[in-house]
Amino acid sequence: MSQNLSRKICILPGDGIGPEVTTSALAVLRTLELPISFSIEAGGYEHYLETGQTISPASLKRCMEADAILYGANTNPAGDSGYQSLTLLLRDSLALHGNIRPVLSFDPDSAVDLVIFRENSECLYVREEREIPDGYDATRRITRSASERIARLAFSYARENSRRQVTIVHKANVLRKTCGLFREVCFQVASEYPDIEVREELVDACVMKLFLKPSSFDVLLTTNLFGDILSDAAAALVGGLGLAPGANIGERHAMFEPVHGSAPDIAGKNLANPTACILATAMMLEHLQFKVEASRIRGALKQLIQRGATTRDLGGTLLTSEFTDELIGELRTQTVRSGSGDDQISTLR
Ligand code: ATP
Repeated sequence: MSQNLSRKICILPGDGIGPEVTTSALAVLRTLELPISFSIEAGGYEHYLETGQTISPASLKRCMEADAILYGANTNPAGDSGYQSLTLLLRDSLALHGNIRPVLSFDPDSAVDLVIFRENSECLYVREEREIPDGYDATRRITRSASERIARLAFSYARENSRRQVTIVHKANVLRKTCGLFREVCFQVASEYPDIEVREELVDACVMKLFLKPSSFDVLLTTNLFGDILSDAAAALVGGLGLAPGANIGERHAMFEPVHGSAPDIAGKNLANPTACILATAMMLEHLQFKVEASRIRGALKQLIQRGATTRDLGGTLLTSEFTDELIGELRTQTVRSGSGDDQISTLR
C-alpha cells in the first residue's frame, strides 16, 4: 500500500503567484495526510534581487536529494538582467530532459484528453545567440541522443497508459537537418512499438487541427520550442493556463509545476487559480506511487469545476483561498462518502 512509503519533497514557490498556488497545493497535500515530509526552499527572480543568487547551493542540494520537487513559478525579466532563470537552472542541474504536459478537459461535453511530450534540453533553448552585422543569430541544436530520449519517454508512456497513438510534430519540410533528424529518430523508436499507431504533422498544421478537432490527438511528441507553444495553445482548449500542469522528468530527478508563469498582474491578490499547481501535485503523487490519492484530487477538482465553484479566470467568483477551502471540503466529503475503501475512491477517476 502506498501509505507505507515515506517520501521527501521540496517545494519551491518561486515568484509572483507561485507562493499562492503552492500554498494551496500544500494545504491539499496536508489534507491527504500522506507520509511525505516537506521542505520549502527559496529561489527565483525575487530571491535573486535580494541575494544575488537564483537559488542557494544548500537549497539546490536539498532539491537534488528530494524524491520530487513541486515548483510554483518563475519571473523571467525582459532584457539582460544577469538573472539565470530558476526553471532553466533546475532543468540543467537536475538533467530534466523530458517535459510532459497533459491537457485534459473537466467539461463533460469536451473530448480533449491528450499529452504533449516536449524535449526539454536543447533546440533554441541552448540560448546561444551571437551578434551578426545586421542583428543576431541563434543556434537551434537537435541531437540524436536527446531526440531518442524524449521519443522513448513518449512511446513507453503511450504503451504503459493504454494510449493508442503518437503524433510526431516537426517542420522537417523547412528545417531539413534539425527537424529532419528529430523526425528520423522518432520514427526509428516508433518501430520498436508496433502496438502504437504513429503519425506525423507539420507544427503549423498541427495547431490548426488541434483547434478544429482536438479529439484526433492522443500523445504529441515534439521539440522544445514547438512543445512550449503547442502546450500553451492546447491549454486554451480546456480553459486556459490556470488548468494546465506539467512534469519535468530526468533519469534521477522529477519536478512538477503549473505550465503558467508568475502572472505579475494578479500576484499577491488572492486571485490565482491554483488548479494547475494542484494537478501538478497529483502528477507528483502518481510519480511517488500515491495513485489513489492522485485520483482523489482529480475527482474533487472535477466536482468543483463542474458545479461552477471556480476562480475568476474560469468565470467564477472564488478567491484562491476560498477555492482551496472548497476543494479541501470536497476531499473530506469524498473520504466520508467512501469510508476507507480504495476501490470506491478509485471510481472517481
Ligand atoms: P511566462 O513568460 O513566465 O510564461 P507570462 O507573463 O507570459 O509568463 P503567465 O505568467 O503564465 O505568462 O500568465 C499570462 C496571463 O495568464 C497572466 O497575466 C494571468 O492573467 C493569466 N494567468 C496565468 N496563470 C494564471 C492562474 N493560475 N490563474 C489565473 N490567471 C492566470
